[in-house]
Amino acid sequence: MTTREDAVIINSLVRQALTSMQEVMGDNGLNAVLKTCGLDRFVGNFPPNDLEPSIKASQYAQLNQAIEDFYGRGGKGILRRVGRASFQYGVREQAALLGVAGVALKVMPQKERIKFILNGMANALKKSNPDVDAHLDESGGILAYIESTCAICNGRHSEKPICHLYVGSISEAVQWATGKEYQVIETHCIAKGDEYCRFEIGDARE
Ligand SMILES: [Zn+2]
Repeated sequence: MTTREDAVIINSLVRQALTSMQEVMGDNGLNAVLKTCGLDRFVGNFPPNDLEPSIKASQYAQLNQAIEDFYGRGGKGILRRVGRASFQYGVREQAALLGVAGVALKVMPQKERIKFILNGMANALKKSNPDVDAHLDESGGILAYIESTCAICNGRHSEKPICHLYVGSISEAVQWATGKEYQVIETHCIAKGDEYCRFEIGDARE
C-alpha cells in the first residue's frame, strides 16, 4: 500500500496529460507552465509510452496548480478542455485499455452507456496503477464517480473542489458514450478535506 505522499504516476499517463495540454495550450503555453513548476525536463521531451514511474502525484498536482496560476480566471476552463482532450487521447491511443474497442454502445440504454464508459475509465486507471482506488457509486439513485487516490489534488488545499481536469475527462466520456452533454459536478474533493473526490453525473442538457 502506497501512502498518498509516495504516490507516483507512470510515463504513459504523463505523456497523455502533456499531449493533451499541448493540444489545448500550444507549445508556448505548455512550456511556460512546465518551467514555473519545475518540470522543465519535459519541454520538447515527453516521457515514453510505457508503465515506468515518471513523476510523483504531488508534482502532477503542482502542474495542475501551475496551469490555474498561469491562466488566472481562464484556468478552470483550460483544465476542463485538457481533460476532454485527454479522454479523446485515451479513445484514440488506448482503446483496448479503456475497453471501448469494438463495443456496440447503441444497443444499451443511456444510463448503462454512462456506467460502461466510467467503469472503463476506472478500470484503465487501476490496470495502470494497482494503488488506484476508483469506482462508481449509485447511492440515493444518483450516479457518481469516486476516486480516493486522485492525483490532481494531491498535497493541495482549497475551500472549493479543484479537480477541473477530471471534470473535463468525465464530461467528455459521458458525451462520447451518449452523444449528449451531461452536467458533471465535483461535489467532494480531497483538497478541501473530504476522503475522496466525487463527481456527480447530473441531467442531460437539451
Ligand atoms: Zn481530486
